[in-house]
Amino acid sequence: MDSYNSFDVAQKQILEAAKLLNLDQATVDFLIWPQKEVKFIFPVRMDNGSVKIFHAWRIQFNTSRGPAKGGIRFHPAETVDTIRALACWMTWKTAVVDIPLGGGKGGVLCDPKSMSLRELENLSRGYIRGVAEYIGIDKDIPAPDVYTNPQTMVWMMDEYETIMHRHQPGVLTDKPLQVGGTQGRRDATARGGVVTVREACRSLGINAKGKYAIQGFGNAGQRAALLHQEMLGGGTLIAVSDSRGAIFNPKGFNPKDLVTHKLMTGSVVGFPGSSTISHDEVLEANVDILYPAALENSIHANNAARIKAKIVCELANGPTTPEADELLYKNHIHVIPDILASAGGVTVSYFEMVQDSYSFFWDEDEVHHRLDKQLTRAYQRVQEALREKKVHPRLAAMIVGVARVAEACKLRGWV
Ligand code: GLU
Repeated sequence: MDSYNSFDVAQKQILEAAKLLNLDQATVDFLIWPQKEVKFIFPVRMDNGSVKIFHAWRIQFNTSRGPAKGGIRFHPAETVDTIRALACWMTWKTAVVDIPLGGGKGGVLCDPKSMSLRELENLSRGYIRGVAEYIGIDKDIPAPDVYTNPQTMVWMMDEYETIMHRHQPGVLTDKPLQVGGTQGRRDATARGGVVTVREACRSLGINAKGKYAIQGFGNAGQRAALLHQEMLGGGTLIAVSDSRGAIFNPKGFNPKDLVTHKLMTGSVVGFPGSSTISHDEVLEANVDILYPAALENSIHANNAARIKAKIVCELANGPTTPEADELLYKNHIHVIPDILASAGGVTVSYFEMVQDSYSFFWDEDEVHHRLDKQLTRAYQRVQEALREKKVHPRLAAMIVGVARVAEACKLRGWV
């Protein structure tokens, strides 16, 4: 990762889109800052009896189209600006897939890998005590993100319901099925991404059954490894990385075995039959499709020129810096931008909220079908904008998202 301030990048992207949309100054001024930011500290009792103080945020970037929506990250490098950027990107993401939600994000500065399960539970509950008055089914609905998961969500939901003295499962999404979760949420981000890859391959005439690589082997990366083959009818996964290292096998990995190896050992490293490569070599692998599924700014000016993939499907938030974007565009690489490619997760989160609100749950096929429809439509809408404005795909997606949000702000009389 280089030293980019993600929020600077996010603000520049808005200005670029606003210019092409001819937005007036008040609208621009309104769209480049979060509407509300909550910063707080809270104590957590650790296993050794000591008390540790944690810094945390919840940011609601824009709520013109509906309540704020977005994940909560537990990360040792968390800053207010990363969360601002991520909350901002959620705003365009929900708008691009056209679901009635705004954008938000939260985070706790912590090192979750060094904490026990009990400490993580205390941290999750403490976080909710700090934000309970700001979140709610009609205000702001968090979900998991980096280093948080459905178990985190149940602890948080339980704490919220305890504070509110009522059942309110829809206050957080990506919960386990037993407590108001939906079918199809766990693989939704990856599934949405693979839908966009399918559409891109169709429209560009690229062989979807060629080689692919995955950078980052967390939830989204693992599911993409499996779903790529399942949904596109083939493909050879030749390079994979996670935070501990990277591996390569020109004959291809069996994604199922690789997921099992990661579950058993905590990493992809050491998978039988693989050779070890560098992190950058995964990004630069000779593949048709590359899925960046790790953190922000992994594709930057120093490695972008060596990327050989024909399609880059951004399952991570903000994986490409602006300079890298230009380079990829110049090299005719089709980038499916994060606010489109990774929108499957929040789309199914929205389906979860809908089901929670009437306490009646859909089967998996219905979730998959609706997700596919929503993402296919969004992909095509972005393609239209790309052709109309003759801009790179990220800017095209920004134009679609920003235009919808600006319109809602205008209709409400905010600007
Ligand atoms: N954390 C996911 C994202 O960045 C999902 C957010 C949500 O479901 O609210 O899109």
